[in-house]
Amino acid sequence: NNKTLLMDEKAIGRAIRRIAHEIIEHNKGLDNTVLVGIHTRGIPLAKRLAAELAAIEGSPVPVYELDISAYRDDHKKSSINTVGSSPNRFDADGKTVVLVDDVLFTGRTVRSALNAIMELGRPQYIELAVLVDRGHRELPIRADYVGKNVPTSRREDISVQLGEIDGQNQVVLREE
Ligand code: 5GP
Ligand code: MG
Repeated sequence: NNKTLLMDEKAIGRAIRRIAHEIIEHNKGLDNTVLVGIHTRGIPLAKRLAAELAAIEGSPVPVYELDISAYRDDHKKSSINTVGSSPNRFDADGKTVVLVDDVLFTGRTVRSALNAIMELGRPQYIELAVLVDRGHRELPIRADYVGKNVPTSRREDISVQLGEIDGQNQVVLREE
């Protein structure tokens, strides 16, 4: 049972800060940008990204959370909820929605998230930010912003630990 440290707390912080700068540069500001964190660990990542974006540009960015399992199980339309002080109703019309998740693997979670978002509005662009891309895509989906690319075997597993949920911040590669 091998473990390799891929990112420590500082590396995670740097990756989020870099992605924040990339989002601002690519979208030429944040006027029309909202973040949607995918449950579970995409949510604290989206909040951290929003804090970085606000620190750089000086204005708040709305953050929402999306629970894909709830969406799949209940076929509910109200599965995108507001985080913190963001505007109550999820309003993506004409906006740039940046989806945020911890790990991108087959792409199926993102596909479900795209469906959920597009049922709720008409964003102009949807982009994807992930902390780790571990490969093995089964769909034509790729991330616009990547913290770290980690080639993995299917037997391996990426453990993403975030202080808000796990009490510490690190990314570890685990081999069976
Ligand atoms: P996909 O739907 O792309 O196959 O898998 C991505 C989703 O499953 C993400 O929400 C992610 O949290 C989770 N996931 C898939 N593989 C891993 C992994 O190796 N480590 C972690 N931490 N999550 C994973
Ligand atoms: Mg997940």
